[in-house]
Amino acid sequence: MNIQNLIRPNILKLKPYASARDEFKDFEKSMTFLDANENPFETGLNRYPDPQQSALKLRLSTIKNCNPNQLLLGNGSDEVLDLIFRTFCEPGKDNVILLPPTYGMYEVLANLNNIETIKIQLNTDFQPNVSDILKAANSNSKILFLCSPNNPTANSFEAESMEALLQKFKGIVVIDEAYTDFSDSESWSSRLAEFPNLIVIHTLSKAYGLAGIRLGMGMASPEIVSVLSSIKPPYNINQLTQQTALNKLENLELVTNQIQLIKNERIRVLSALQNIDFVKKRYPSDANFILVQVDDANKRYKQLIEKEIVVRNRTKEPLCENCLRFTIGTPDENTKLLTVLKSLI
Ligand SMILES: *Cc1c(COP(=O)(O)O)cnc(C)c1O
Repeated sequence: MNIQNLIRPNILKLKPYASARDEFKDFEKSMTFLDANENPFETGLNRYPDPQQSALKLRLSTIKNCNPNQLLLGNGSDEVLDLIFRTFCEPGKDNVILLPPTYGMYEVLANLNNIETIKIQLNTDFQPNVSDILKAANSNSKILFLCSPNNPTANSFEAESMEALLQKFKGIVVIDEAYTDFSDSESWSSRLAEFPNLIVIHTLSKAYGLAGIRLGMGMASPEIVSVLSSIKPPYNINQLTQQTALNKLENLELVTNQIQLIKNERIRVLSALQNIDFVKKRYPSDANFILVQVDDANKRYKQLIEKEIVVRNRTKEPLCENCLRFTIGTPDENTKLLTVLKSLI
């Protein structure tokens, strides 16, 4: 597969903005920096941040087991997704394939960029319909989004289906693994070398407890990463975010322990939900949330709000009629949810 042929011609031709920090970035020497029109008085934040985020990428590359040149960082993974749209999809001409019910941002970004969406619903086991997807794809289908574990259904897609799609879909395959840390399956990022059209998305917003700093990443071939990097805003990851992320990544044990606790709580909540008679169905979860089908989602949602508990009502999503999505909270929060659910009539 020739990736260059998938890239929009104007992006291929684009000459990236060269920032002051791109032209001269040797921070090691004690240089006098009079090149970027910054305020010279030192506060720790008066200088522009590293546009390449080299230190952070180095740390992340050891954690994610990839090369730094296979990493693109974004202001949340939502920015990475937007860069992918703008790199590969010609507005008003190309299309992307979505598998509802799934993460709502793909469609928002498609609409924002004036890109048509082709929707192939998951089957009733919330798995991709491989042959339907391949049949629906045409020569303008540039990206296929696979969200696994999927939001809001919480399950992972079967590896065989994903592999078949990676091999047969003639465009970019984005595997959004925002919830991978809560799953026992290995990340598809370990197979980047096999699939030149693969982009894997991770984020620090979920398991790493850093939704507030906005840091997401794409992992792909150096070829794809380099073109995405060339169109990103030069200073898209601010100094505070780079520093906070580096600090957090120093102590991974804390993150690992929290993930384990959330996984244990997931088992406890799933099992306790069995004893609530208006819960009609509990779906298995590889994520830090649980999808349940209840008797009347709108009614139960309102009752929970009255008891000061906010969950997500997914009843309007395809295949999710009367479904609520519960995020796994702290043990106390989960106990409160279960107690309140038991008290509802
Ligand atoms: C939460 C979530 C993200 C994360 O988005 P950020 O912009 O990194 O916070 C990405 N994909 C899916 C499917 C999500 O649910």
